[in-house]
Amino acid sequence: MKVTECFEQNKGKTLISFEVLPPLKGGSIDILFDQLDPLMEFKPPFIDVTYHREEFIYKQKDSGYFEKVAIRKRPGTVGICAAIINKYKVEAVPHLICGGFSKEETENALIDLHFLQITNVLALRGDARKFDDKFLPEKDGHEYAVDLVKQIASMNKGIYLDDDIETGMPMDFCIGVAGYPEKHFESASLKSDLKYTRKKIEAGADYIVTQMFFDNKKFFNYQEQCRKEGIEVPIVPGIKPITKKYQLNAIPRNFFVDMPDDLVRSIQKAKTEEQVIEAGIEWCVYQSQELKKAGVPCIHYYTMSDSAIVKRIVSQVM
Ligand code: FAD
Repeated sequence: MKVTECFEQNKGKTLISFEVLPPLKGGSIDILFDQLDPLMEFKPPFIDVTYHREEFIYKQKDSGYFEKVAIRKRPGTVGICAAIINKYKVEAVPHLICGGFSKEETENALIDLHFLQITNVLALRGDARKFDDKFLPEKDGHEYAVDLVKQIASMNKGIYLDDDIETGMPMDFCIGVAGYPEKHFESASLKSDLKYTRKKIEAGADYIVTQMFFDNKKFFNYQEQCRKEGIEVPIVPGIKPITKKYQLNAIPRNFFVDMPDDLVRSIQKAKTEEQVIEAGIEWCVYQSQELKKAGVPCIHYYTMSDSAIVKRIVSQVM
């Protein structure tokens, strides 16, 4: 079932969904199942699986010289999606990025997804690679997520890259895209970011999942601005609990989001690791309850390997 069909079938109800990361290379898929098993009692209609492109690292050779090598630390997104569908009988949403893909590789990846009967995809640009100062598309790849959305939308009409394919099998992907309540860090303003988000919707995207945020006011304002901009698709808030003190600085640095003073105070006040977790849970429960009351179609939890903590939160929200 498509993600948007899940929303339509459950109109008036707030659904719960989760995002998971593929295990580090060399790790078993059981690591992931151990994370997901306890969360399945909440009957998430879909689970997102992130995509991690190759990174460059410097490896020391026997000669003593360093060599720059490309490695993918978390491969397996598509395989994991197929395994999730098979094991839990829920939808899995693979994240698909522009970075590292030519258009043809994207087309082939979409064909794989179609053959696996995966009908949902979250279309993203991806970030700049470590050591690159900005995002660089592949030669013959997409520069922005909107271009990826256009390619998927074309394939939904049976239009492939190769003109010789006259009656191509139409795909039927439901397309999600990213949204940023506190604007994307490269954008000059929220307004200009929204202009580009609207282009993703006009190109065929069906719904938005937001970057994590800790201040619901930012989300409610974002939702209002989207509607003013003519963006009518469902907007799914993405949230995560603070579980460690260092995240007070690491999350703003990595995700370009602010922390409300009340949250910062309660985390700073915590004297033990357990108290930090309790304060983080309390905040995330409060956020979830308020979002639910506001009637959001779904709350999307970034589990980030903290599924026991996410379980405690969702139990208090459902
Ligand atoms: P875009 O929509 O292309 O936007 C990127 C920037 O360019 C924005 O500032 C936008 O305003 C601007 N822009 C867009 N179009 C144009 C244009 N035509 N001209 C000028 N400027 C333009 N990353 C991963 O690598 N793997 C993942 O699995 C992953 N999952 C994510 C899930 C969610 C819910 C979110 C919110 C982010 C995720 N990311 C992931 C991170 C994402 O790839 C980065 O935030 C990336 O920097 C931007 O991706 P985007 O799809 O929003 O890009």
